Amino acid sequence: MSAFTREHCTCVVVQNLSYDQAAEALNLSYGAKWLQDNLAKLPHQKFGKNRAVFCHCDLRVIQAMYAVLPPEAAKVISPPAEAPEQNTDQPKHPAVPAYAAARPSQGRRRQAAGV
Ligand SMILES: [Zn+2]
Repeated sequence: MSAFTREHCTCVVVQNLSYDQAAEALNLSYGAKWLQDNLAKLPHQKFGKNRAVFCHCDLRVIQAMYAVLPPEAAKVISPPAEAPEQNTDQPKHPAVPAYAAARPSQGRRRQAAGV
């Protein structure tokens, strides 16, 4: 993410939050102070000399930056891929079925067709 773009922002309506509102949305115990102290490394918007503001997309990025995921949680979220099957000579689902496996599409008649 470049510092000059806001690719992470999907807002369709401008609804920026102040420091206090952002701190409340993130439920920060130290309130806006933590946001102010760490502003340089947090996504935000700054319009001239106005105080920085945050949209909900900024808050989502901040949330992801500080998410703590122990290995047990990571396994639940992204379980390891299953071991690949043993390589056999015959593919499980061949692209062209064997001729011997061909069957009539409507089954076989039990009686001779009437004339
Ligand atoms: Zn946004």
